[in-house]
Parts: sequence; C-alpha cells; structure tokens
Amino acid sequence: MDFSTITYEESELLDNVAEDFGRFGRTERICSRCGNDFEHFTNNSSYQTKCKTPNCLEEICRGI
Ligand SMILES: [Zn+2]
Repeated sequence: MDFSTITYEESELLDNVAEDFGRFGRTERICSRCGNDFEHFTNNSSYQTKCKTPNCLEEICRGI
C-alpha cells in the first residue's frame, strides 16, 4: 500500500472538511490517519485543507 497518496475515502473526508469550513467556519471531523484536527486556509483563488499534523492529509484546491 502506498501511503504517500491520498485514498478515495481520505479525499472525500477532505472535501467534507472543506465544505464544513465553508458553511460553518469550523469542522468537528478529525483526521482518519492520526485523529488530529483539521485547519483550513483561504487565499484569493485557492483554498487549503490540511491536518494539523505535518506531512499528513492535505488538499489544495485552486479556485474557479
Ligand atoms: Zn492527520
């Protein structure tokens, strides 16, 4: 198994976390790999959703 790539389930989780932050400004979901909290950053044209643990789950989306 290759842990350097994000699985479908992890990708879904990150999408849900991003949606939570977009709607509520927070999420109660935790990282499925390490159990830590997520944090979310928004820039002008992109956003980043990541686990607070370095080098854990992370997703960067470029804006439309
Ligand atoms: Zn994690």
